[in-house]
Amino acid sequence: MKRTIVSLLAASLYFGTHAQVQIKPLPQSGYEQRIKTYISNMRVVDTHEHLEDQSAWISPGKLDFMLLLQHYAYDDIRSAGMPKQTFNKLLTDSLTVMEKWNILKPYWEATSNTAYCRAALLTADKLFGAKDLNEKTVEELSAKIKKSYQSDWYDQVLNKKCGIDYVLVDEDNSMLANPAKFKHVKRFGEFIFAVSAKKIATIARDLNTPIHSLDDFVTALGTAFRKALDHNNVAVKIGVAYERDLFFDDVTKEKADEVFRKIMALPGGSVLKYNGSEIKPLQDYMVHRILDLCRATNTPVQFHTGLQAGDGNYIDNSNPTHLTNLFLKYRDVKFILFHGGYPFGGELAAVAKGFRNVYIDMCWLYIISPSYSERYLHEWLETVPASKIMAFGGDFRNVENIYGHLLFARQVVTKVLTEKVRDGYFSEDEALKIAQMILHDNAIRILNLDKK
Ligand SMILES: [Zn+2]
Repeated sequence: MKRTIVSLLAASLYFGTHAQVQIKPLPQSGYEQRIKTYISNMRVVDTHEHLEDQSAWISPGKLDFMLLLQHYAYDDIRSAGMPKQTFNKLLTDSLTVMEKWNILKPYWEATSNTAYCRAALLTADKLFGAKDLNEKTVEELSAKIKKSYQSDWYDQVLNKKCGIDYVLVDEDNSMLANPAKFKHVKRFGEFIFAVSAKKIATIARDLNTPIHSLDDFVTALGTAFRKALDHNNVAVKIGVAYERDLFFDDVTKEKADEVFRKIMALPGGSVLKYNGSEIKPLQDYMVHRILDLCRATNTPVQFHTGLQAGDGNYIDNSNPTHLTNLFLKYRDVKFILFHGGYPFGGELAAVAKGFRNVYIDMCWLYIISPSYSERYLHEWLETVPASKIMAFGGDFRNVENIYGHLLFARQVVTKVLTEKVRDGYFSEDEALKIAQMILHDNAIRILNLDKK
């Protein structure tokens, strides 16, 4: 009896966690494997990377096991206590591979539980056959990494192993001049963070246009914008949630002009603090002008929302709901909200559901937390049109970590869609169509990738 009660309890807990509304007939047997095979083999579009050219990595001290801990695992290793200078030393050739490992080891053991570090482990295994990171594996792993860069490694990884059709690269990188695969995204940060007369003079010189007034400044922005569109840029990125909140007031020209004049009148190299309230009206005004240009040219804008990398950030700054006045004012601009808004997944669902011009982008998300990605992909597929969800962007500087991240993404998408088919929320055919939409077709349509 006791056993029966325990089993019943376990069963109710199980179904309680996964209970779903059944709409479709339950699937034919073997659906799990068919969905897994389909998603594991399908080609994808990668909506966000900071990729550096293959040649940029071929320099002393860069091509060893530490390559797999670049960019994000570093944040957790530092969070576990390693000083920045120590980590930076591990990226140079001043130490042998084993010396690097010995310094890293206590921090690695403290933090190898996080998804950033798990991604590095999965990459080491699936790309280089190293089953763990430890004193027995790091030397051979490092030798394999070094050797791989003697081939057309980028093409092998991105094209053959990842099956990626397009990669959107944040900010211009002329080394990636392959317009068939790499598309660029421009930030225009110099116009948002123009805090001194010197910075404004630099913009004027670079664009070869005089800037003496706010009107000149806006004209210069237009020139830079058109230039970017002529150079394979397909979207604008606004990443200011690292420096300030995402509420951009619709300030008057007079108010913005006051700040502009103040900057131009500052003595010598003086600057207005870029995250202070003094500069805010001009920043707000310029973001609105960027959105005017997006509207006029049908250019989507990608907004960083949610978690900021590194330490010492204000998470409240990055809540996607701060952007609501922009969604209302720029109804024709496509707002692509990054990083699944972590940890504001519910708020993100609400704005993506409530505004036809708001889209969800899950770049970076699976390695922040696979559980969050799974939980919210379930919820977003119940709340937001599937045509508005883009489900992969690696958010890395090197191809190895993109590969590991994509393995995470394929696993999570497979799990969510399999569960939705198991419960009869979707049919098997519907699930496969949705995978095709969120991992591939939506990005091409939303970002006009086949038209540029
Ligand atoms: Zn990024």
